[in-house]
Amino acid sequence: MIPFNKPYLAGKEILYIEDAVATGKISGNGKYTKLCHHFFENNYGFKKALLTTSCTDALEMAALLINVQPGDEIIMPSYTFVSTANAFVLRGAKLVFVDSRKDYPGIDETAIEELITSKTKAIVPVHYAGIACDMDKIMEIAYKHNLYVIEDAAQAIDSYYKGIDGKKRALGSIGHMSAFSFHETKNIISGEGGLLAINDDRFIERAEIIWEKGTNRSAFFRGEVNKYGWVDVGSSFLPSEIIAAFLWAQLENLKNIQSRRKQIWNEYYEKLKDWGLSNQVGLPQIPDFATNNAHIFYLVFKEPEQRNEFIKKMKDHHILCVFHYLSLHQSEFYKDKHDGRLLRQSDFYSDHLVRLPMFYELNSQLVINKIK
Ligand SMILES: *Cc1c(COP(=O)(O)O)cnc(C)c1O
Repeated sequence: MIPFNKPYLAGKEILYIEDAVATGKISGNGKYTKLCHHFFENNYGFKKALLTTSCTDALEMAALLINVQPGDEIIMPSYTFVSTANAFVLRGAKLVFVDSRKDYPGIDETAIEELITSKTKAIVPVHYAGIACDMDKIMEIAYKHNLYVIEDAAQAIDSYYKGIDGKKRALGSIGHMSAFSFHETKNIISGEGGLLAINDDRFIERAEIIWEKGTNRSAFFRGEVNKYGWVDVGSSFLPSEIIAAFLWAQLENLKNIQSRRKQIWNEYYEKLKDWGLSNQVGLPQIPDFATNNAHIFYLVFKEPEQRNEFIKKMKDHHILCVFHYLSLHQSEFYKDKHDGRLLRQSDFYSDHLVRLPMFYELNSQLVINKIK
């Protein structure tokens, strides 16, 4: 059986966890957390990195930081994971869903501006499959209307956006803040785990407080205040050193992990290109402004039946291929609250897209052999 995903161990995870245990510091914000924070800040240009227990938590922190109030409107794609939406629904926000682009499942940036009202507070682009949304356009709209941009970069570690200035900027470093995931299905993993990256100085001090249960404990340990106490709302968003130690072992191997995944991705692409053309099956398209971090390899079938037959055929060959997402505006929870606009591309991807197995130790040739 070829699974859809298999978590990859870089090698030193247990060693670093043992070290954390041996030093006697296994709660959060210790040596390994700081190593991870510095790695992210130095490599990707985030002004402040804060590890969280999940991307879901990082998004919830973002919603608290921008003070989302009941009735505020948040613009986001419908074709995404529920956590993008839940973080804001938890604060009483109304979601305004945007359709996907025709050429790839990311948000259609040309459909955003017409949805802005006096109640709009933020835009939440999702870098689907680690492929950048058109961030220059989105930031321009946000500045014009005084909105926050929170990047859902759950899938976007080590991926970049090339803007009109030609410079490459790491995804997650462009919006006011961004959220990454280290769930075991992502490129870099810690079982469950996440990161809030902050790029706007105004949010840094309060982010640390919200992260540490509403206390100024981080400032206390740096010696900036002489006692610590309850100063704001917050929760327990920080992971233990056991998680951070695991993550550090992965980050030390990031280059190797990324290059192996890209190798697999490119092999899929090169060997399926002609097959796709002659069978009218679409392969991933990467816009000029985006790079590829090889998070997902997907196929887009012409008819839903063909997609479902493909999944069944592969299953008969003991290869697990999966589809996602059911459009959030069609979900049981939100369909009554949605404003009724049709979002055809989002629904199209729900019905036509399938993901091929994608993990470090995969022999992609075995999968390709059964497809052709
Ligand atoms: C995986 C994922 C999340 C949630 O990440 P967790 O770390 O599991 O909370 C959120 N948004 C997107 C787009 C994702 O792919």
